[in-house]
Amino acid sequence: MSDGWDTVERRALRAAVRRFAEREVLPHLESWEDEGALPRSLHAAAAAAGLLGIGFAEEVGGSGGGPVESFLVAEELILAGGSSGLVASLFTHGIGLPHLVESGDPDQIDRFVRPVLAGASVACLAVTEPGGGSDVAGLTTRAVRDGDHYVVTGAKTFITSGTRADVITTAVRTGGPGARGISLLVLEPTMPGLRVSRPLRKMGWLCSDTAELGFDDVRVPVGNLVGAEDAGFAAIMRQFAAERLSLAVQAVATAQRCLELTMDWVRRRETFGRPLATRQVVRHTVAEMARQVDVARTYTRAVVADWEAGEDVVARVAMAKNTAVAACDAVVDRAVQLHGGAGYLRGVEVERHYRDSRILGIGGGTTEIMTEVVGRLLLA
Ligand SMILES: Cc1cc2nc3c(=O)[nH]c(=O)nc-3n(C[C@H](O)[C@H](O)[C@H](O)COP(=O)(O)OP(=O)(O)OC[C@H]3O[C@@H](n4cnc5c(N)ncnc54)[C@H](O)[C@@H]3O)c2cc1C
Repeated sequence: MSDGWDTVERRALRAAVRRFAEREVLPHLESWEDEGALPRSLHAAAAAAGLLGIGFAEEVGGSGGGPVESFLVAEELILAGGSSGLVASLFTHGIGLPHLVESGDPDQIDRFVRPVLAGASVACLAVTEPGGGSDVAGLTTRAVRDGDHYVVTGAKTFITSGTRADVITTAVRTGGPGARGISLLVLEPTMPGLRVSRPLRKMGWLCSDTAELGFDDVRVPVGNLVGAEDAGFAAIMRQFAAERLSLAVQAVATAQRCLELTMDWVRRRETFGRPLATRQVVRHTVAEMARQVDVARTYTRAVVADWEAGEDVVARVAMAKNTAVAACDAVVDRAVQLHGGAGYLRGVEVERHYRDSRILGIGGGTTEIMTEVVGRLLLA
């Protein structure tokens, strides 16, 4: 494809990701799925391989590269036989740190950003609350200023890497109701009054731990305020574009991987004395899967390019996420179907992708909320 994703440097990056996946991930992924979390040593290994800091500038401890490089790392990990669950958990700092980097407080960069990008600690982003996730402007976790601290009360749920995180970038209400009263504070699990639940049990993303967090009068130094007070909502929304495009890329990669696994399977699997691939209905199913993957990838990459060029693509980012998720949903379903009973078995890769991909239309803004974003912007 001539969309700029296939330069010499990016091919080398893909090769490095694939080597890392084959050496550090694939032999262990099933056991991490059983254990429900990634080992911290994987973060250190990813940092040593130069992958953890991709997309973050060297001045803040990153390895350089832009958003496309970070999307490409996620894509290649999935294409190599990893999973979106692995990407979500190993790279949770991709949603947990950008607000800190953007606001640029040198002390926060040193205390929080550098150790995470070095693989020595883990970061997460805590926005969603038990009372609701779609309505970010309605969040109720309170932070009240008391001298040189904020006192935080409330709860968060569904927080990826939440049971392991050392750096918890948390959306709190410092002001009045609505979007204008929201700030971001870095909480740390050692702070008295911060409760971390046991890992929540889930349908998929099994290697990615997910937590509920409770805050009972947690005293947080004002130095942990990210950016200006009451300016958190805009910061969250600015970073949503990258998260949604990353999820779109992961949906396309999951679909592409399932397409490849299915093509291999239908060539090998014989029924009634002939390979499945010789049946017209099977060939047409595979052809339709390939069409859906190609359209979703082409559209997603076009939106990524326009976003990188600085165009206003809020609606198209939402459309890209929905397009990629719809393609992925359709393709993983057909992949399982063409695998027959084998597609329903634990340990068979398409089964994992079928479960893992179900979250892609829920996390980072649901399909319905994406559609609402598009509708509102179109008819504004
Ligand atoms: C595995 C996993 C990992 C996650 N990781 C994180 C994380 O790291 N950090 C974090 O902050 N959150 C995380 N989330 C939370 C995720 O972002 C939310 O689940 C999501 O935003 C939806 O919020 P909700 O679950 O409260 O659903 P709700 O907001 O209660 O929505 C329920 C349903 O109603 C629909 N709906 C809601 N409002 C409208 C409307 N106005 N019009 C039409 N339909 C509507 C939704 O589309 C959805 O179908 C994670 C969730 C999961 C399951």
